[in-house]
Amino acid sequence: MSSIFTKIINQEIPSYKIAEDNNYYAFLDINPNAKGHTLVIPKNEVDKIFDLDSETYAGLMQFAHKVAKALEKTIVCNRIGMTVVGLEVPHAHVHLIPINSVSDINFTSKKLKMQHDDFVKLAKEISSNF
Ligand code: AMP
Repeated sequence: MSSIFTKIINQEIPSYKIAEDNNYYAFLDINPNAKGHTLVIPKNEVDKIFDLDSETYAGLMQFAHKVAKALEKTIVCNRIGMTVVGLEVPHAHVHLIPINSVSDINFTSKKLKMQHDDFVKLAKEISSNF
């Protein structure tokens, strides 16, 4: 069965898209730790990030780098944090999170509540800086 992220790539379920190319896709996390929390994924579905072949892994990091620069341009923050968890969705992904303190990247901290329109507006802003 396809992962929820493969369904997003195939547009079977919606996402707040930031950017994509032939091999990678970036979109807003639906349950963000902080404003601008973005997920970057390879289109080829592999569960664990360190099981990606080295070319796909390097390409994912290059794509994440470009997304992080767009986030920096869009969101006032101390820096963009990057982390990998993968315990919830078995499709390799990198979390990019604009942070001001370590609690912004702590997944057990309270989540940010955002409305649909705010996600749409934010995704458009970040996308325009990509
Ligand atoms: P993890 O696999 O532990 O790295 O966490 C998966 C992340 O995916 C969580 O931060 C979820 O909020 C996020 N997530 C799950 N489903 C969706 C979705 N449909 N759209 C955007 N983000 C999602």
